[in-house]
Amino acid sequence: MGIHLAPPARLGSIEGRTPTIATLCSHSSLQIFHGARREGFPTLGITAGDPPKFYDAFPLGRPDRFLSVPKVSELPSSAATLREEGAILIPHGSFVEYLGPERFVALDVPVFGNRAVIGWESDRRKERDWLESAGVLMPLRFEEFRDIDRPVIIKYYGAKGGKGFFLAKNRADTEAFHPTGPYVIQEYVLGTRYYVHFFYSPLSDRGYRVGSGSLELLGMDRRDEANIDELYKLGSQEELQRAGIRPTFVVTGNVPVMLRESLLPQIFDVGARIVERSIELFGGMVGPFCVEGIMTEDLQFKVFEISTRIVAGTNLFISGSPYSEMIEPGLSTGRRIAQEIRRATEEHRLAEVLS
Ligand code: AMP
Repeated sequence: MGIHLAPPARLGSIEGRTPTIATLCSHSSLQIFHGARREGFPTLGITAGDPPKFYDAFPLGRPDRFLSVPKVSELPSSAATLREEGAILIPHGSFVEYLGPERFVALDVPVFGNRAVIGWESDRRKERDWLESAGVLMPLRFEEFRDIDRPVIIKYYGAKGGKGFFLAKNRADTEAFHPTGPYVIQEYVLGTRYYVHFFYSPLSDRGYRVGSGSLELLGMDRRDEANIDELYKLGSQEELQRAGIRPTFVVTGNVPVMLRESLLPQIFDVGARIVERSIELFGGMVGPFCVEGIMTEDLQFKVFEISTRIVAGTNLFISGSPYSEMIEPGLSTGRRIAQEIRRATEEHRLAEVLS
């Protein structure tokens, strides 16, 4: 038996019945419902106000039923209804963001994965402690401007939605930076970005073994970011700065990518270290997570961020990715989540994958 994440009382609402897969209608919800349906689960979509009309356009992704609340922040008052429905909530980026990390952690409804991870991810300092103590390579951090000896990216605390960054090619450039709040100075890593979609199963005893379970690579993407991705078309950094145009990193979409096969051992090593350290620190991260990093010209992968749940880049692979195809044809991350819940139900091990 593995680590129990859920207290026994938490699972009372789904004991002895087929659970309903529920999530907030946003982000990767169509994929989550589609995957759950393919694994034979009923589905419930939570909406703020009326269900979005575009769901009607995707009959295989649309949930069986909707639960409407006036505002996402008011979801806790519907916890009893969700328990009556036998719901298991699937966290995604927008769900945790709109509800608020504290409210999400406090919800008295079974949640897929270890909700303790939210406290480690939502605090950049704790996240860095976790990854560094796992032995993962990260961009350097500069405490003082005088120490800067390479390009840097200055990030305001809690920079959200891809805004709130300042880029400088060297120390002299940082003189144009006039802080308006607390910030961190980070090495600007030169290279190519990869967003790696992993899945950690504590139940599986085959494949790439990590801890008592196994680590799966389900896909990879790169985010399209406006305006930085195409800023070069307008002129040099200096010209843009003079014109008062600042780079932003607002995600507008995703493109699929593959990594050189010879780099896969490094990527698996990074994923395994993060999972192993999570087990030591807070009982383990379960299910999907995304390691976001930059591969340098020396072929070193430097991790600038981790998302500890399904990321929207997995939407590229609703019918499978080149990687997941070698695990099971047509396997999406949404479907993989449903499979893990099904297996845990059949083997009476739900406390190991829900919290
Ligand atoms: P973040 O908010 O940390 O996810 O960063 C937003 C975007 O900024 C990323 O998707 C990258 O494109 C870029 N970025 C963040 N950190 C770095 C870094 N250390 N070096 C280069 N680019 C970065």
